[in-house]
Amino acid sequence: MVATRSTNWRMGYQPAPRQRARALRLPSAEWRRYLGDAGMQAAYHSRVCRVGDHWFWTGALSDSGHGRLRVPASLGSKTVASHLYGYQLVYGALVLDGDGVALIRHRCDNASCHRPSCWVPGDAKANAADYRERSGDPLSPLSDKRGAGGRAKAIRAAILQAQAEGRDVDRAIRSAIEAGMPGVQDTLPIDL
Ligand SMILES: [Zn+2]
Repeated sequence: MVATRSTNWRMGYQPAPRQRARALRLPSAEWRRYLGDAGMQAAYHSRVCRVGDHWFWTGALSDSGHGRLRVPASLGSKTVASHLYGYQLVYGALVLDGDGVALIRHRCDNASCHRPSCWVPGDAKANAADYRERSGDPLSPLSDKRGAGGRAKAIRAAILQAQAEGRDVDRAIRSAIEAGMPGVQDTLPIDL
């Protein structure tokens, strides 16, 4: 589990320091093996839905709404936070040690968003500041009644269903988002 978003504060989620350190501070050499693995890269790309303003994860999700990506058996059979993997694919391998980058935050507050322009390196303090600044906004993803995990799962389900049925994926995503926002769920039809 990787604490990477301000929504974790809303959910009351606080990873144990050792757990967080283990997840974030994989040796750089280990990350490089993952980043260089063609199968893992392909698995990553196949799970990112690049439709609309935010690119949502359609693979496995943690309770906090963050994507999980499986490491191939030949490299150790574990799972890693998919946005950490994606960030490093796009921007280069991070040195996750010492007082350097502690986590990757989402500017857009969508835990399962994988659009590189929505990611920004930061630390727990910056993450908490994000939450204080944006949590009062009724239109913010932080106000989703389903919580960050429920929101991510609903969006994933909408994408997969729309893809399977050949319907408009962007529209399905918008409907899934609207369904969780305060005050609109009773008046807008959920048109998936
Ligand atoms: Zn985003």
